[in-house]
Amino acid sequence: MSELIEAIIDKAEYEHSMSLEEIVLLLTTPEAEKLYEAADRVREKYIGSQVELRGLVEFSNICRQNCLYCGLRRDNSNIPRYRLEASAIVDFGRRAAELGYKTLVLQSGEDEFFSPERLGPILSELKQLGVALTLSIGEKNREEYESLRKAGVDRYLLRIETTDKDLYERLDPGMSWTNRVRCLRDLKDLGYEVGTGSLVGLPGQTIESLARDILFFQELDVDMVGIGPFIPNPDTPLADADGGTFDLACRMMAITRLLLPDANIPATTAMETLQPDGRMLALKRGANVVMPNVTDTDYRKMYMLYPGKICLNDAPADCRVCVTGKIKAIGRTISVDQGFRRRRTFVKEQ
Ligand code: SAH
Ligand code: SF4
Repeated sequence: MSELIEAIIDKAEYEHSMSLEEIVLLLTTPEAEKLYEAADRVREKYIGSQVELRGLVEFSNICRQNCLYCGLRRDNSNIPRYRLEASAIVDFGRRAAELGYKTLVLQSGEDEFFSPERLGPILSELKQLGVALTLSIGEKNREEYESLRKAGVDRYLLRIETTDKDLYERLDPGMSWTNRVRCLRDLKDLGYEVGTGSLVGLPGQTIESLARDILFFQELDVDMVGIGPFIPNPDTPLADADGGTFDLACRMMAITRLLLPDANIPATTAMETLQPDGRMLALKRGANVVMPNVTDTDYRKMYMLYPGKICLNDAPADCRVCVTGKIKAIGRTISVDQGFRRRRTFVKEQ
């Protein structure tokens, strides 16, 4: 490894800053081991050994959008569509809380049926379980975000997907990149903990634009960053595209850890689709969160963002046991609180 690369990693480990050119170098250097080790040290120093588990409920696969990469896009007629009843959502939530989850993540396509009015009562019931609530239901206007926040939602996940505006608007027809940024800013302003992130390996995406994604996360000072490889879905117009790689997604994640040392960063499910035990590897390369699925298997099969989704036949209780075992086996512990971002001031070391 060149001295220059080592010096960049060293500086980032203690000062948590990098230029665009430096990030590009780290994304392209042949050997990433030193980067991964530094990300692991920063995670240990700012977060410690505990891993946050978030229980994921996929409550509707109906979507009004048509993102070219995604299996839930409205023009995909190859998947059966479902929308869980309010009582089923609460039921999955209750069972997840009984299994020990302290955060529930409710995710869906952009399904207009679930207006804030319809979600409100569901959210208040879930809130009574004593869990933190995260929503990931796409773009809404400020008033809607405001009313969901008032209904008890603590966090919101909305990936920017890519900071390359032209690429974004080509891949997400009918959507506006500027509006997506507006959503993120509104969410922050309304007091949510905000998560964003990117898809790595989209057709036409450059290394420089990936480097810009990381600077964007840092500039927005987001609380959570989810980075996943793009996995081509046969039911979409991008069926024949080359997907992203596990290695590049890990580099993106590790650099993000260096620049946002106290952020919550998941080891994403898509990573494990590309690499056996990929989530545990990611936990050793900067990640500190895992999001096991707590939806019943019948629905998991229909929530097909991309092919090869893991744990399709595992019941929520089995996932919990399996993930806990794996995390303990790599010498980490399971967090017992709700896992909000623990902000730490950066002490510049001499
Ligand atoms: N509709 C909401 C939430 C569900 S989609 C939204 O779009 O924000 C959740 C995430 O799945 C998206 O942000 C996207 O990054 C990811 N995703 C979609 N298609 C994918 C694919 N083919 N490979 C990997 N991740 C994908
Ligand atoms: Fe819908 Fe989200 Fe998929 Fe886009 S990424 S098609 S908004 S579910």
